[in-house]
Amino acid sequence: MKTNNLEKKKVFSFDKTFSSDIFFAKPDKYRLLEDLSKDHKKIINSGANLSYSPIGFCEDGITIDLKKFNRIIELDIENKTITVEAGITLIDFLNFTLKHSLWIPQLPGYPAITIGGAVASNSHGKSCGIHGAIRKSIKSILLFHKNHGWLNLSENENKEIFDLTVGGLGLTGSIVNVTLNLTEIKSTKFITKIKKVSSIKECQNIISKENNSYIYSWHRADNIEKFGEGVVYENHIDNTKQEKFKKLNGYNHNFKPFLFSLWNRYSISLINKIYHFVNVNKKKEETEDFVKVIFPFYGKEKYFNFFGQKGFLESQLLIDNKYLQDFTEEFKKLFKTYKPIITLLSLKNMSGEHKFLRFEGDKVCFTFDYIKSKSSMNFMEEIDKLCLKYKIIPSIIKDSRLNKEIFNKTYVYAEDFKSKLHEFDKQRIYQSEVSNRLGI
Ligand SMILES: Cc1cc2nc3c(=O)[nH]c(=O)nc-3n(C[C@H](O)[C@H](O)[C@H](O)COP(=O)(O)OP(=O)(O)OC[C@H]3O[C@@H](n4cnc5c(N)ncnc54)[C@H](O)[C@@H]3O)c2cc1C
Repeated sequence: MKTNNLEKKKVFSFDKTFSSDIFFAKPDKYRLLEDLSKDHKKIINSGANLSYSPIGFCEDGITIDLKKFNRIIELDIENKTITVEAGITLIDFLNFTLKHSLWIPQLPGYPAITIGGAVASNSHGKSCGIHGAIRKSIKSILLFHKNHGWLNLSENENKEIFDLTVGGLGLTGSIVNVTLNLTEIKSTKFITKIKKVSSIKECQNIISKENNSYIYSWHRADNIEKFGEGVVYENHIDNTKQEKFKKLNGYNHNFKPFLFSLWNRYSISLINKIYHFVNVNKKKEETEDFVKVIFPFYGKEKYFNFFGQKGFLESQLLIDNKYLQDFTEEFKKLFKTYKPIITLLSLKNMSGEHKFLRFEGDKVCFTFDYIKSKSSMNFMEEIDKLCLKYKIIPSIIKDSRLNKEIFNKTYVYAEDFKSKLHEFDKQRIYQSEVSNRLGI
């Protein structure tokens, strides 16, 4: 249905936990963005709508889809900065910057994600232990706000709103342009080293020592006996190969969930066994392409499609190194009792400062994917309690089920965000399902 630049569409969060019929507008001119914003009381912005939880839509408001604002405005080679419109996808961005041997290293793991979406969720890449989140590469932002109009944001101009906007989940207004500080990249080939590990502890010992590479792990969590067996991957940019840049392909995402779920306890156990066998028997060192390393799920969308229409749940947790072993032991005990079905477990280092809504800190980042079942849900509620016990920060953008109580107790700087946001926008115009659920 299309009326006055608005189109009603059924949308889903990426994990399929939440769906709703939403009015969308897709402006292609700044004037239209201004008019649309003036005409509506409750707004939220969206990019590629690839967020696991519903942070880019709101039931009784409109979503402004900014994907048509996707131009490259200016590249300053000398100062290594680039200004792009927020709707540009990571792949289009990279196809331009890599020609000049430049990029930003804080890229979230899928090529169709937009720069605006990555900035609003303060995304991170594989090397977040050394490069932090995308916040580290942002020089300035051009924001449009329904009541405040056009605002330049940076460390020197409207600093408070700049801080609220990076990782602010689109709640401060529409990010229209972003200026990024670029980093040199000499090659788009990576050398990947693979190390076999038999436990989370062994993995922790390896990753806590490494601080100069893209390091992450994969572990079995499909049964308690094999829990933690896995591999650590260490990627280094191969500076010996001065490869001529080849355009990266990767425009169409192929996320089409099957009618029914093909993942269950047995299929997950089998696939984990095979994956483990293949990886521990692989060459210990190999050369890999940029896309495979930076966008590991590109071309492997079936992993998500296999969860079916019912979807899945993801949880990302930031844990202090000192609590990691105690957390793991308690996790395993609960695992025995609740028998959740975990399809993926991975670890990586994270660095940065936990402030406002930002998923940052000098901690270890655990990622779990679960089949949506009663046992998984009950188990996750118990893990919520461990979050309080071990001062763990759960991810807002990944966990669709996160509730207000756990959020308030784990995001200790959220009150500061809320009061500054309310001061800036007394009418609280920009709202999403998640901001309403969490009371932001
Ligand atoms: C396969 C896959 C892999 C991923 N890997 C990672 C990863 O490695 N690291 C990581 O950190 N994240 C990862 N993510 C999550 C992803 O980076 C974030 O959810 C990101 O926000 C998605 O961007 P998007 O363009 O789809 O934005 P959307 O999902 O449409 O929106 C996300 C948020 O940004 C806001 N927003 C979007 N555009 C604008 C704008 N122009 N102005 C203001 N607000 C805006 C929205 O309001 C919303 O709050 C992954 C997601 C997928 C599907």
